[in-house]
Parts: sequence; structure tokens; C-alpha cells
Amino acid sequence: MIIIRCPYCLEERYEDELFYGGEADIFRAADPATVSDEGWTGYLYLRTNPKGLHHEQWCCSAGCGQWFKVARHTVTHKVTEILPFETQFNYQSVDQQETKT
Ligand SMILES: [Zn+2]
Repeated sequence: MIIIRCPYCLEERYEDELFYGGEADIFRAADPATVSDEGWTGYLYLRTNPKGLHHEQWCCSAGCGQWFKVARHTVTHKVTEILPFETQFNYQSVDQQETKT
């Protein structure tokens, strides 16, 4: 069971009280007409599926209704970082941590 503390209402929620929104930080191009077919396909369909640290977006659906971001290990379900939705992960420091282990 995944338990995540919402950064907005500060309540701990079980995963069935939350809504999983997939991978975090997938950005739509400002001008989609300039994106190649491969780039557009990647935006729509291609997501990472790591065995390890994954950056996700979740909604506090049984609580305040706010979206937020979570860094979670996909095997252990250990949550290592919870951020407000408007905050971006520091992927560079994450990459350095993963190479150390
Ligand atoms: Zn909440």
C-alpha cells in the first residue's frame, strides 16, 4: 500500500484515496505545428517505465483535489520526494544519486 502525504492539505492518504496521473513533467510543445511526427508521438505515447525511481503526478482526489508530484521507487514504493505541482524535480541531482548506488 502506497501512503503519500499531500503537500497541500498535509494529510497522509492511502493510494485508493489518490488518483495516479502518470509520469510527471510531460510538456506539450508551445507550437505543436513545428513538432515532427516522431516528437509528437513521443509526447503522446512514450513514457519511461523504470524499475527504480520514477517521477509521477498524483491527485489528492479524496481530499483537497490538488495535483502534486512524487518521486517513488517502483519496486519498494518508497517515496523520496513530494513537491507542489508547479515545482519541477531536480533531475540532475537524481541522476547523480542513481549513479552512486
Ligand atoms: Zn490534499
